Amino acid sequence: MSEALASHALIIVGAGHAGGRAALTLREEGYAGRLILIGDEPHLPYERPPLSKGVLQGTADLAGCSLCDSVRLAELGIEHIAGNPVTHLDPQHHRLQLNDGQWLPYAGLLLATGGRARRLPQEQAHVLYLRTHDEALALRSALQPGTRLVVVGGGFIGLEVAATARGLGCEVTVLEAGPRLAGRVLPPVISQALLELHRQHGVDVRLNVTLESIQADAVLLADGQRLPCDRVVVGIGMQPNVELATAAGLDVGQGIRVDAQLRTSAPDIYAAGDVCEFRLGGLYQRQETWRNAEAQGRHAALSLLGREAPFEALPGFWSDQYDWGLQTVGVITPLTVSRTLPDGGLLLFYLDADRHLQGACGWARGNSVAKDIKLCERLISARLPLDIASLANPELSLKQLLRG
Ligand code: FAD
Ligand code: NAP
Repeated sequence: MSEALASHALIIVGAGHAGGRAALTLREEGYAGRLILIGDEPHLPYERPPLSKGVLQGTADLAGCSLCDSVRLAELGIEHIAGNPVTHLDPQHHRLQLNDGQWLPYAGLLLATGGRARRLPQEQAHVLYLRTHDEALALRSALQPGTRLVVVGGGFIGLEVAATARGLGCEVTVLEAGPRLAGRVLPPVISQALLELHRQHGVDVRLNVTLESIQADAVLLADGQRLPCDRVVVGIGMQPNVELATAAGLDVGQGIRVDAQLRTSAPDIYAAGDVCEFRLGGLYQRQETWRNAEAQGRHAALSLLGREAPFEALPGFWSDQYDWGLQTVGVITPLTVSRTLPDGGLLLFYLDADRHLQGACGWARGNSVAKDIKLCERLISARLPLDIASLANPELSLKQLLRG
């Protein structure tokens, strides 16, 4: 950092999970200079997982999802600019412009702009999306007992909304374009378990469906079927907010491309969270998960402070649907060992050719699988060659395997 720039602030664009975590970490790590966190939403930084679960059920609120309250932000001297998006980025002159016209110079910058819900071409009042807290509130008030809801997309938004809506007494149909649920990220056996669970709860799940159009009181399918409904929720994926970076000439692929330290193609600009495209297992990819936002937010803060270690956190995510929980950690490999759990759930272990654990996926009632996945994380780090029969044996605890 040059002397002239050292007097300027560290700025974080995007006051969501990764951005908020980075700001808090900068203070925890002793950064005492000016720190500005800029968001386009009107809220304090918050975590999104409760939006499709507790917030939609009415059992959680915004304060419960927030990373910290306004008093804490003020105590930490974090200047939070809310509801005022960054509209221009000028890497050459190390400055950015806000929607209200003001320019701010920066000494270092983090782009944590996340993403937005992918939308259907036509906007209609009864067609709803779910990415933000305000969208969750709008959806919550639309989900009344007896509401006929069609969910477009059998990914995580679609399935979590379907489960919550059933709990609220709605009639739910899920339309998935692909041959199985959450097919891009889950193994077939778990997609099948999800399908059975939703059908047991009375959801009409349809696979391989092509949407023709959405009318005021029905959804039309390409095969001519007409599904009468009151509301439609669309969960067909996320679009990363890369426009600022693209216009500024940064290297952008499917996300803002970064090196091992999460640095973009501009030396004093970093990226983190859903918007960040980084190398994982040799391939550039983005991770759209809580765990990644948390880990990259922290890591980018350290990189901004010049402590430039490579980012190496294990990927992973969870989903809660009805009274079942799904958790994954690490990566999927072709060598899979399956263990059936006493409650009918499953643990899948992914091994490399040396029988070292590389990843795991667990599906069980309640939160019981969390403990197993934590142990799998330890097994991944331990790099012990594992016995396939022992992994498959539900009588043998993972703790025993860790002890070798
Ligand atoms: P975001 O949280 O999206 O934050 C980015 C922020 O930047 C947003 O507020 C955005 O509006 C703002 N922004 C964008 N452009 C600008 C600009 N130009 N100027 C200023 N601000 C800007 N993951 C799991 O692992 N498990 C779950 O159970 C789970 N549940 C989820 C449920 C829902 C409903 C959703 C939507 C996501 C869920 N996720 C879950 C995913 C997880 O929440 C995301 O991966 C995480 O929020 C990503 O954090 P982020 O900070 O990168 O992006
Ligand atoms: P997603 O997980 O990418 O799933 C979208 C699903 O919709 C895919 O199965 C996709 O099928 C299908 N689809 C796409 N176009 C369709 C169409 N026209 N008609 C019917 N189906 C269609 O995206 P999402 O569920 O919308 O979630 C958005 C973001 O929120 C993601 O970042 C997700 O990770 C995050 N989120 C995460 C969690 C969690 O981790 N528990 C929970 C909620 C949200 P194809 O794959 O075949 O295209």
